[in-house]
Amino acid sequence: MAKDVTELQKLISQMTLEEKAGLCSGLDFWNTKGIERLGIPSVMVTDGPHGLRKQQGDADHLGLNNSVPATCFPSAAGLASSWDRDLIFRVGEALGTECQVENVAVLLGPGNNIKRSPLNGRNFEYFSEDPFLASEMAANHVKGVQSQGVGTSLKHYAANNQEHRRMSVDAVIDERTLREIYLASFEGTVKQSQPWSVMCSYNQVNGEYASESYELLTKVLRDEWGFEGFVVSDWGAVNERVKALAAGLELEMPSSAGIGDAKIVAAVKSGELAMETLDLAVERMLAFIFKSVENRNPHAVFDADKHHQLAREVARESMVLLKNEGGILPLVKSGRIAVIGEFAKQPRYQGGGSSHVNPSRMDDAFVELQAVAGDAASFLYAQGYELESDDINADLLREACDTAAKADAAVLFLGLPDRYESEGYDRSHLLLPASHKALIEAVAEVQSEIIVVLSNGAPVEMPWLHRAKAVLEGYLGGQAFGGAVADLLFGEVSPSGKLAETFPMKLSDNPSFLNFPGEGDTVEYKEGLFVGYRYYDKKEIEPLFPFGYGLSYTEFEYSRLLLDQTRIQDTDTVQVSVTVKNTGSRAGKEVVQLYVSDVESHVIRPLQELKGFGKIELQPGEERSVTFTLDKRSFAYYNVQLSDWHVESGRFKIAVGSSSRDIRLSTELEVESTVKLTTRFHRNTTVGDLLANPLTEEKAKSFSSVFGLEDALGDNPEMLLAMMKYMPLRAMIGFGQGKYTEADLEADLQELNRLAGQE
Ligand code: BGC
Repeated sequence: MAKDVTELQKLISQMTLEEKAGLCSGLDFWNTKGIERLGIPSVMVTDGPHGLRKQQGDADHLGLNNSVPATCFPSAAGLASSWDRDLIFRVGEALGTECQVENVAVLLGPGNNIKRSPLNGRNFEYFSEDPFLASEMAANHVKGVQSQGVGTSLKHYAANNQEHRRMSVDAVIDERTLREIYLASFEGTVKQSQPWSVMCSYNQVNGEYASESYELLTKVLRDEWGFEGFVVSDWGAVNERVKALAAGLELEMPSSAGIGDAKIVAAVKSGELAMETLDLAVERMLAFIFKSVENRNPHAVFDADKHHQLAREVARESMVLLKNEGGILPLVKSGRIAVIGEFAKQPRYQGGGSSHVNPSRMDDAFVELQAVAGDAASFLYAQGYELESDDINADLLREACDTAAKADAAVLFLGLPDRYESEGYDRSHLLLPASHKALIEAVAEVQSEIIVVLSNGAPVEMPWLHRAKAVLEGYLGGQAFGGAVADLLFGEVSPSGKLAETFPMKLSDNPSFLNFPGEGDTVEYKEGLFVGYRYYDKKEIEPLFPFGYGLSYTEFEYSRLLLDQTRIQDTDTVQVSVTVKNTGSRAGKEVVQLYVSDVESHVIRPLQELKGFGKIELQPGEERSVTFTLDKRSFAYYNVQLSDWHVESGRFKIAVGSSSRDIRLSTELEVESTVKLTTRFHRNTTVGDLLANPLTEEKAKSFSSVFGLEDALGDNPEMLLAMMKYMPLRAMIGFGQGKYTEADLEADLQELNRLAGQE
């Protein structure tokens, strides 16, 4: 049963130093240690995140050995494309229930690193390139799992944005970028959903292992964000155990075979580590262990068929319709359809590595297509390529073309084979295998009605796009991938997924391209804030498909964008509403997106940033209003001088639309900052900075005589001011030729600071 702090402390007082240290590392690969004599049980943690991977036999952290059958939901890349908070909560609930049935205390997920480069081998496990969308998705995943009395482990904190040298690489990131992009996805999740644990990442951040960073694990995570759970190391992420414990890492996983524990014992004995530090870590571990015992539900059961149905619903919502020329989709349920590509029968439905699930059921897309279409349609199949090889097989191509030629339309299942994307390594290009490209090119010679269904965990380049009339991005759709594809292709439901990441035309367009994966053990995030659409927008680069994009079988019209106030202070909130109507002839869902832009700013800012979204279902002709609440964070940037979020007073644009590049309506709002930035003027303050401040402008203009610029430029005041703009104040001493002294400068600085209220 859960115990209060006094009870926990009493228990700790009965523990030996060795027992305390022992509690801070695993018993084995998946279990914490118990202490029988004190009634402390051992509990189990397992992977995660989109299905349970509970191993009973040989254990590993790379998904190599088998686990108990469990429902395999779409992985995070797909889940995020649903932009549906409630749906993700329901996935979490289902996962939590399956954990209860298997007596698992913590599901190791969700992963919430930002997609910096599409090459990251683990992008399929992460939600988005945008921290706001990512944290909304992850928070609902966490809430869903934890609603069942099972903990989560939000991972991999922080800046684990590549697999290349993941256990040693140092991610060098400026503070503002770290806060606004890479920490923000974790911050939102922690604050909203209080995960039972956070898993620290393998890599270093700005010269320090994440596992040893007091700044990340204690100051930011606990003191600022209010995290109350325990921190667990990624499997093998501990470098120096004592340093890690002092930084705030409670649990080392997997077991360090007693080595880490012995180091802790020695450090306490030598006085290097305070007993209070160890006691606090033990208290947090005990709080977790007893909480999980209290929440244990020995009667839990789950209906595998129902969870499979949920997986199908989720997969439908996760897929993104990228192209639909001439309305070729939905397909009519008659005629002859050629289904081509081995993925139709051997789907790629999940990614490789520790998230690898042993699925409880497995859809076969070919069978599902037949089932949904019914008897009026007939189906042909051709393998098209060999899954295990990239080589073009001429016989298979010929057979595919013969099959396609006999049909009214061809559905091609293409994508990335398992070996292309996995935990542990990154991709080196964004191309499909040559055999897949050759297939579409060959089939296009004999069949014009081509529909491509893609299975991949992250963006691919599509030099073949013009050959297809329709493209459905299926992502890694989980065990019900096949059924969901059938439902969407035949219009049982309208597609409603939207991209949670930008698809670039080509890899070299990606903002991290010049600095990924870095040199040796250093990767510098030189693109700074400009990750994903923040970069493509500012650079005016046309992506292949933009962030937030996705087609539907129906159409939506936006009207009445309203604010409840047009002037607020940064401590207030503002309500924004917009009306959306289904003007097409089919039921459908729309993801309404809200972007905020700072109209005029003194700091470098993205053109627009996602600050709200909502998904609604509308019948034909139906309209509804969607409401968003914006607060300080919706307008703020991270100010490194203040070490805080700051809003610059002024106008902000509120834009609402169907994708980041399909803005339908916009309006403006005035926000007034309640925080005054004070920077004292000094001898190297420029005249331009004084001119920009209405309080010091007049005084600054008077300096033109000191600079001796009046004779030459007196009749051209604009040019005069422009020439003075970048002069530091101390330059008046030199240019003044003795007329202006250090004492004058001292006096002027005092006056200027007084005028600006900065005394
Ligand atoms: C992965 C984690 C995973 C852990 C346990 C590590 O290699 O990075 O995501 O939870 O192994 O399998």
